[in-house]
Amino acid sequence: MTPRIEVIGSLNLDLVSTTARVPQGGETIITQSFSTGCGGKGANQAVACARLSRSQHDISSGSVIVSMAGAVGDDSFGGDLLKGLRDNGVDAASVLVRKGEKSGVAVIIVEEHSGENRILMSPGANFSLKPADFTDLPAPLPDIIILQLEIPLDTTLQILKTAQQKKIEVLLNPAPAQKLPNEAYLAITHLVVNESEASIVTGNEARDIDWTSNTAQHKTLLDLGARHVIITLGARGVCYLSKGKPIRTFAAQKVNVKDTTAAGDTFVGAYAVAIMLNRDRSETAMAKAIDWANQAAAKTVERPGAQSAIPWANELPPSNAK
Ligand code: AMP
Repeated sequence: MTPRIEVIGSLNLDLVSTTARVPQGGETIITQSFSTGCGGKGANQAVACARLSRSQHDISSGSVIVSMAGAVGDDSFGGDLLKGLRDNGVDAASVLVRKGEKSGVAVIIVEEHSGENRILMSPGANFSLKPADFTDLPAPLPDIIILQLEIPLDTTLQILKTAQQKKIEVLLNPAPAQKLPNEAYLAITHLVVNESEASIVTGNEARDIDWTSNTAQHKTLLDLGARHVIITLGARGVCYLSKGKPIRTFAAQKVNVKDTTAAGDTFVGAYAVAIMLNRDRSETAMAKAIDWANQAAAKTVERPGAQSAIPWANELPPSNAK
């Protein structure tokens, strides 16, 4: 049976202006450039799963079936967001089109000389997803559900409950970071965090924790309850923690860095695909999955853009598929 991944989360249309400087109150300035793109962490991760499980030369079939559940408005952006999923091989049948709602939008201002972003996020239809929408899940059930935190928290908590009842594996990427109630972590099989998310979910205000080697903090993170914990460390690679197993670190690939946007989303998608293609959860199998996700994310940082920078399966060596 072909494994199924379901991503439940956000879809946003990104409106990106690059400017020499940021306007002051009451001021209008002409930008250097403007572009639009499909985004939202949910959609990015769904696209990453789909691209990394199929060839760009034939998107109609892949080694994993990838679907997304979420909500867009009945505006033109909603149509663009649905097309963006389908064009990458994601089944978008469970994305609701909400009458009279606006689609999620991120207005992104990039200051040219510093590369610094300023983002105004309007969640729109993403926030119309209610717990009642997820008290059950339609058949066929997925083998894994991937979640982020860009939809209402009470909805995410309901999805975790339903997944636990139905014994479905869950991967949570808690972005934007916030602490969840303690019992929620028990429904999470795979927790994938970057360094600042690791600090926030463990209740640490200090941002100078060295997550490569701080074993006391590793224990706090593992004690939250997820079975497999992965900390992505940007240019320093990845750290893997699992109860009773030694901590493993994986160096990042040495690449020419162009743009790190969507690196974390690519990592999540690649890791999910790899663990769906090999259900073995031995140390060796987990290491292979992380290594492959590390390679996939490195490809993304070599290219400009967000979803468009995510590699397809045919651009990488085979994953740890049996
Ligand atoms: P981050 O979300 O910044 O922790 O990045 C996610 C993953 O992308 C990392 O764990 C690496 O696998 C990859 N990555 C990010 N930045 C770089 C980089 N500068 N060089 C190579 N790989 C990177």
